Amino acid sequence: MRKFKTESKKLLDLMINSIYTNREIFLRELISNASDAVDKLYFRSLTDKSVNLGKDELEIRVAFDKDARTITVSDCGIGMTADEVEKNLGTIAHSGSQEFKAENDFSETDAADIIGQFGVGFYSSFMVAKNVKVITRPYGSTEVTMWESDGIDGYTVTALAEGEKPTHGTDIILTLKEDTDEDKYSDYLSEWKLRSLIKQYSNYVRYPIHMEVTKSRELPKPEDAGDDYKPEYEEYTEDEVINSMIPIWKRRKSDVTDEEYAEFYKSDFHDFTDPAATISVHAEGTLSYDALMFIPSRTPMDLYTREYEKGLALYSSGVLIMDKCADLLPDYFGFVRGVVDSSDLTLNISRETLQRNSQLRAIAQKVEKKIASELEKMRDNDRETYELFWDNFGRSIKFGIYASYGMKKDELGSLVMYYSTMQQKYVTLDEYIESMPEEQADIYYAAGDDLERLRNQPIVRTFTRKGFDVLLCTEDVDEFCLQTIRDWKEKQLKNVATADIDLASDDEKKIAEEANEEHKDLLSAMKEILGDNVQMVQVSPNPTEAPATLTTAGPVSLEMERIMANAPEEMAPKAFRVLQLNAQHPVFAKLIDAQANDKPKLKLYTDLLYNQALLTCGLPVEDPITFAEQICKLM
Ligand code: ADP
Repeated sequence: MRKFKTESKKLLDLMINSIYTNREIFLRELISNASDAVDKLYFRSLTDKSVNLGKDELEIRVAFDKDARTITVSDCGIGMTADEVEKNLGTIAHSGSQEFKAENDFSETDAADIIGQFGVGFYSSFMVAKNVKVITRPYGSTEVTMWESDGIDGYTVTALAEGEKPTHGTDIILTLKEDTDEDKYSDYLSEWKLRSLIKQYSNYVRYPIHMEVTKSRELPKPEDAGDDYKPEYEEYTEDEVINSMIPIWKRRKSDVTDEEYAEFYKSDFHDFTDPAATISVHAEGTLSYDALMFIPSRTPMDLYTREYEKGLALYSSGVLIMDKCADLLPDYFGFVRGVVDSSDLTLNISRETLQRNSQLRAIAQKVEKKIASELEKMRDNDRETYELFWDNFGRSIKFGIYASYGMKKDELGSLVMYYSTMQQKYVTLDEYIESMPEEQADIYYAAGDDLERLRNQPIVRTFTRKGFDVLLCTEDVDEFCLQTIRDWKEKQLKNVATADIDLASDDEKKIAEEANEEHKDLLSAMKEILGDNVQMVQVSPNPTEAPATLTTAGPVSLEMERIMANAPEEMAPKAFRVLQLNAQHPVFAKLIDAQANDKPKLKLYTDLLYNQALLTCGLPVEDPITFAEQICKLM
């Protein structure tokens, strides 16, 4: 017996002891896997002439045995070698196990979420089964392998004789748990139940799902039947294809219910939650195609990793050509899932020739436009869903603006939202401009890592006190995105921490200039104390409530410096830091006094003020121990 890995076991325990209430989806999961396995074999047949497939070989079969309490899902797909069995079924959540370890301390309520994130499809069978057997034979091989587990501690892998499985493919045999007062597992052992589950969850699977069904027919009337003859019936079994297989994307949106779309999405794209939006397109004319696309309602675990494969499934007249055609989606819409089906494409199109295919490029352009316009519609008509979307995928869009050097700024910029300090909600750049006071020339934003801290930054508060709205940005990519947009509807986008934003009146400026002149010696003494930490110390024309704040001049903000700090030294840009003093604050008088009478005290105060300013910007103090000692000294 081989043991499950610890993290697999935890997840299995959760699933089996079932916090996840929707157990019946196990069938959908097994059928989706079966369909994927048939796809794989079918794909191989396209490139490998030695693979000869009869049409009727591409099928899936569901069977049950009431007495033995078993349900069997069989496919004639690619099958698995013993090594593949070990790799694929030995570790739950194999692709995400690293992340999973990090999040290992989840509460039970998170279970459904976790199940969703890792797509632990096959293991969902343990929600209903006390024993699962997998008997599999790879295409073109005589190697037959059996995997068996009770889902508790571990599993066994056994080599079987060739005769045990005469044809390639995989049989998954579930022995159902005993019924309890709450859970009647034996409900699944009925033709009616299985049929309705297949219809509900797997109706659009593109291969036929066969099941033996029992029917009844009238027996021929005996010749010697008397007048009081009552017709007699007999039961017989017949093979039936349960799923409709009509591609759902060919149907008009008005003919399909939201539930049908959601079920198709969940079954085809292995998600556990309904999509946030469904986009259906039927184009006819010079370019004819059907497209059905979904915006997921959660961020896939691996979206921002290299493992994530974007793309839409590509069909030619209902026949699958490629399950993830990357050329159909720009990177910034890479989170969209769906299918494109066009009769204009030839079947034997290859990955290499695809990129050069003008039809495909034209479809990709239309698809992109359609996604953008649907998102705009959502933004205007269903803000709640849009905010959810933005929360999940805003990062992709922002990154798209940055990565395209602003070439996409017009299309994507209108989708961008940031938290507005004045309106206390997420607003678009257009909405920001609409509610701007007349005298305001620019769009202001502040960047940091936490909304609450940003909102309370002295510099942000100065802006809001003056009646100016500030957009708060908390993601790494934000400043890069906003700097790439640069201006929106002729308004410059400006970071509030940049010293060249001119909020001060002429009078205030004059007063500051005079103060700078008057206290020249103090300011240069402080600059000397701080050395390279700051480039300038000055009296602020536009003081905040704090005795001192840190601003920057030039294009690099403190936040950007922080983000880029991990880059190689020669590439990590440094911000031009300016320590701004509030000449009205009582502390300023203390500084003047210390400068005149007590130089060590001036050093102490200067260091403290600088560190305080760092803290209010959300940056760490440079030397926490010295900082703490200095505070004690003061006390
Ligand atoms: P997922 O399908 O999301 O990858 P599963 O846990 O459902 O996760 O399955 C794990 C892997 O086991 C699959 O990726 C596939 O490689 C393999 N597998 C599962 N079922 C079958 C099957 N019927 N035929 C061939 N391989 C299968």
